[in-house]
Amino acid sequence: ARPQLTDSQLIREDALIANQWCKAERRFPVHNPATGALLAEVSNLDTSHAQEAIAAAQDALPAWSGLTGKERAAVLRKWFDLIVANADDLAAIMTAEQGKPLTEAKGEVLYGASFVEWFAEEAKRVSGDVLASTWVDKRTMVLKQPIGVCAAITPWNFPLAMITRKVAPALAAGCTIVIKPAEQTPLSALALAELAMRAGMPAGVLNVITGDAEQSIVLGRVLCGSSVVRHLSFTGSTPVGRILMQQCAPTLKKLALELGGHAPFIVFDDADVDAAVEGALQSKFRNAGQTCVCTNRFYVHTSVYEEFLAKFAVAIKKVVVGDGTQPGVRQGPLIDQQAISKVNAHVGDAIERGARLISGGKAHEKGGLFFEPTIVADVHHEMLVMREETFGPLAAVMPFTSEEEVIAAANDTDFGLAAYFYARDIGRVWRVAEKLEYGMVGVNTGLIANEVTPFGGVKQSGLGREGSKYGMDEYLEQKYVCLAL
Ligand code: ADP
Repeated sequence: ARPQLTDSQLIREDALIANQWCKAERRFPVHNPATGALLAEVSNLDTSHAQEAIAAAQDALPAWSGLTGKERAAVLRKWFDLIVANADDLAAIMTAEQGKPLTEAKGEVLYGASFVEWFAEEAKRVSGDVLASTWVDKRTMVLKQPIGVCAAITPWNFPLAMITRKVAPALAAGCTIVIKPAEQTPLSALALAELAMRAGMPAGVLNVITGDAEQSIVLGRVLCGSSVVRHLSFTGSTPVGRILMQQCAPTLKKLALELGGHAPFIVFDDADVDAAVEGALQSKFRNAGQTCVCTNRFYVHTSVYEEFLAKFAVAIKKVVVGDGTQPGVRQGPLIDQQAISKVNAHVGDAIERGARLISGGKAHEKGGLFFEPTIVADVHHEMLVMREETFGPLAAVMPFTSEEEVIAAANDTDFGLAAYFYARDIGRVWRVAEKLEYGMVGVNTGLIANEVTPFGGVKQSGLGREGSKYGMDEYLEQKYVCLAL
């Protein structure tokens, strides 16, 4: 049931510690969510392996951080080239373990690779600073130095890009890292590690430890509790982010957290409604609605409300559901049964409280983990779907009348990751962009992320920014040096 690859060596089932494949007695299964088929049985590590991986990263640190940025850039650049050269195989592995359509998977591979390229370039540009001194006989400077051994815990919804977005800046800065990928999708991480070795990554610089749901908690505890690990970067749910933050408190680790979102998508009366519908499709149904920047709440001005709904109902027919390897499929399966239950619960609750079903609304006739692309209208803020992240293919649409009212509604949440709005009035565009309490705002577009721009949230959506010229600072310490003449 394995995907057909050009290079079958890219499927790895063991963890990577100090450039050695580390085989554990205990295994855990990885399934294809589209078919239920068994894909691989991966090493299920325990505490001692996690400690070995941390030690390997610690051993590798002096030599790696002692290289020049330009030398580290050369290795990263080779890794980038290999990821791009193997993009089709990596996409096939990702679709097999995660379910997203092949074209989306390929898109993620290239998006993930772009962080490696970007930070390879940035590695050469980590410069300190000389500050104007207030002492005639002293000179004051700031050095930037790698923070040390880092850890990354990553989710299943972007099995590859969430790794490179953390690992590339860390390695570029001169840090070494231990990665713990999600138990649902370890194969993409291990394929990346294989390519890193082929690129000449020195032993211990990049380590991958794997475990099932239960062991992930154990491995996470070791990473958080270690005083060698100086930085933890996590992408995942807000509740787990809180747990990890607590576990990192005793060692006062620096933390980067990319957590849940609850993105609003506002269509004002001066919006281009056709463009808004296209943006709505992209923002809502990408990865079957399983991204932290996916729209969860649509607010549409009453004057264009019925027009938007009618056009959205037509457009949603383009979202063909099926196995992601099949041509034309735009929405794959959800990741597991729990995901299906959550979407079902949100739809059921909305309908029970008076929402109008426009399209879909139930498990797809294909069975398994497929769900119909769904639109419900006339929702209100008492409904679950307007209070918490659905993480599935459910679009909930609510009418509004005034700008003040919709801004207040959009900000009425503990989350603050991405927000979107469609409007043409330039004054309104500026006003609303300023007032939305979110880390990222898309204006007249539903797609905003790339390697050049800072990704991250405010409020309980997280801490820190990934990507962009700011992304490397996360992995650097500033050292002030005062030199008396
Ligand atoms: P999701 O809801 O998207 O599955 P989670 O936050 O549960 O997100 O998982 C994201 C990552 O965090 C995965 O790699 C998972 O194994 C890991 N994880 C989940 N719970 C814990 C925990 N208690 N301690 C450490 N890691 C955890």
